[in-house]
Amino acid sequence: MEQTLSELENQASQEKAAFGGDAHIVCDNLVRIYKTEGVEVVALQGLDLLIDKGELVAIVGASGSGKSTLLNVLSGLDVPTAGLARVAGIDLLAMTARDRLRYRRDVVGFIWQQTARNLLPYLTARENVELPLRLAGKRGRAQRSRSLLDLLGVDYCADRKPAEMSGGEQQRVAIAVALANSPQLILADEPTGELDSETSGLVFEALRTANKELGVTVVIVTHDSLVSEQVGRTIGIRDGRTSSETLRRDGEHAQEYAVLDRVGRLQLPRDFTNALNMERRVRLELESDHIGVWPSSPKEETGE
Ligand code: ADP
Ligand code: MG
Repeated sequence: MEQTLSELENQASQEKAAFGGDAHIVCDNLVRIYKTEGVEVVALQGLDLLIDKGELVAIVGASGSGKSTLLNVLSGLDVPTAGLARVAGIDLLAMTARDRLRYRRDVVGFIWQQTARNLLPYLTARENVELPLRLAGKRGRAQRSRSLLDLLGVDYCADRKPAEMSGGEQQRVAIAVALANSPQLILADEPTGELDSETSGLVFEALRTANKELGVTVVIVTHDSLVSEQVGRTIGIRDGRTSSETLRRDGEHAQEYAVLDRVGRLQLPRDFTNALNMERRVRLELESDHIGVWPSSPKEETGE
């Protein structure tokens, strides 16, 4: 039986909605192209990602791989060129300007790498945490800011201005600011990029506490490869796609996996393909419990 166009469209949108089910963050084939002076840069090239509510996930990848672009999309600051991005059931491509403001005020909290960008310099830590509550017209601000600063271990900084705090203290206060309006999701773009390793540990600890105690979903972009030893799930991004995942269960060593997308595509690690001179074509063989991948022989290459 022939389907009408509207039936097909309906079916397509239902399939679209079904992907990822009720995952907290759903990115499906996400594309972001920047155009500057006629030159196109494809920052995200069909990125897929599913993150559940209450997860704590680290995102790692080389500089320029698209990590910040992804976070800017998830934070509602940037609009993707194509694909699907949904957070807490909200379609990030279909928001009006007003929805976007509400989304950024109530649903997500953001922490930047540059400590100075997170806090207003002329306000104390306490006042910084109270500001978003004030803007949202919420009551009980003093109590809320005290309990958040306390939870993150920086209650002693309450009356200090940013210049009177260390970088790590500022970032922990920034997490309190991001949490003030009880968001469902916290995004942090290299929050420890300007910090030494000891201080970085305290900031990660604060993000872990926020995740554990408040149940908020946390996504951290980081350069620190040691992070995968500290979180349950680390997602590797390469060339604008999710390419690997490292999972660690309590008491076990981290195990790295390649990401298999919905149509069966897989990105082989570059050092693997280089080591065996794999280029353009590989030969696959299905075994009972694995798939073998071989370089195609020179004979096959030339078609002899
Ligand atoms: P990462 O955070 O992983 O270092 P980014 O998401 O910042 O990577 O950048 C991904 C790619 O997109 C890079 O090639 C970068 O140069 C490009 N890019 C990022 N932002 C812009 C922009 N506003 N205009 C043009 N190109 C951009
Ligand atoms: Mg970046």
